[in-house]
Amino acid sequence: MSEFHQAAHKLLVIPGPIEFSDPVLLANATPGTAHTSPAFIPIFGATLSMLREILLSTKESGSQPILIAGSGTMGWDAVGVNLVERGDEVVVLNTGYFGDSFADCLEAYGAKVTQVKAEVGGVPTDQAIIDALASHPKIITITHVDTSTGVLSPAGHISQLVKKHSPDTLIVLDAVCSVASEEIKFDEWGLDMVISATQKGLGVPPGLSVVLASKRAVETVEKRKTPVQGYYISWNKWIPIMKNYEAGKPSYFATPPVQLVYALHTSLKAITSAPISDRVEDHKAASKYVKDSLAELGLDFVPKSRDIAANGMTAVRFPKGLQASDVLPKLAERDIVVAAGLHKAIVTEYFRIGHMGVTAVNRERGDLEKVINGIKEVLGKA
Ligand SMILES: *Cc1c(COP(=O)(O)O)cnc(C)c1O
Repeated sequence: MSEFHQAAHKLLVIPGPIEFSDPVLLANATPGTAHTSPAFIPIFGATLSMLREILLSTKESGSQPILIAGSGTMGWDAVGVNLVERGDEVVVLNTGYFGDSFADCLEAYGAKVTQVKAEVGGVPTDQAIIDALASHPKIITITHVDTSTGVLSPAGHISQLVKKHSPDTLIVLDAVCSVASEEIKFDEWGLDMVISATQKGLGVPPGLSVVLASKRAVETVEKRKTPVQGYYISWNKWIPIMKNYEAGKPSYFATPPVQLVYALHTSLKAITSAPISDRVEDHKAASKYVKDSLAELGLDFVPKSRDIAANGMTAVRFPKGLQASDVLPKLAERDIVVAAGLHKAIVTEYFRIGHMGVTAVNRERGDLEKVINGIKEVLGKA
């Protein structure tokens, strides 16, 4: 298999799924392996431990990684099923499409949701957040990077506000589009749940729901007054299994996607071979290159300022008079796949470029230059 080469394909630079490394794809081709085999158990265990490591959490803190077959969205359901009881108050900080959907999901579980909506391209003001905390909601959710706007919320700062104004409120970070591309300090910020998926910054094919829960979040489930209203994503079912895998013991509740866990293990091995802060810096450098190059072409961005713009993706406005159908097919002809707009209010006005994982970190690939040159050609500015 040393002669492995990926099939020729267009460069995938959307905000997830992203380009995958050869070793990750090879690991995904691991032959049939029992989920309880002595070969697999330490792989799963190490994968769980490495998740804690990249989120800057320690085992001593009591945080619990949970890996289940599913996608990022399933992390929202995990909040609804495990942490929410009917009538519980939840504040959703909304910086785009994914805030709306998260709120919708939690309402399906009976949560009383208050949304604090930012204007398009902005983040909620401190005062609006403080006002929403006055009723001491059970949970507050933050979309770390809203993939529809490319807005990066100041999650560390918001966590400080919560600790000051409503310390008992559980802090849930939707980090589907920020794990392994943006700074996340789970223990230091006092987060209670980080929700992610494999196909974005982690650089692994889609199919795993990635969660880290704090001791306090786990205890919240234990203290519920009403039974957990779910089965497959009940933490009561999964946490003992995760603990067993991390302790090197076979365990079964439902079959994990063995090959995907091998792939995630391979990616995390590469990611943890250097401090996670280095990887975040690489994403910042990639982002700066992309955003500076687009600004030189006279293009504007959806986020209102650079300090609230994501480092793993860019939401950039079309020049006046152009729209997706004028630009995206021409980029595709040049083997470059970017994403159209997603936020309803501005959907025709912008497009999205992903620069996460190998595209951002392995700059010798030349992915970013290819994207920028392609855009220059298509806009007639080459
Ligand atoms: C992609 C994304 C999701 C949804 O993840 P899926 O894996 O598509 O289910 C949720 N939240 C954010 C911020 C995302 O970027």
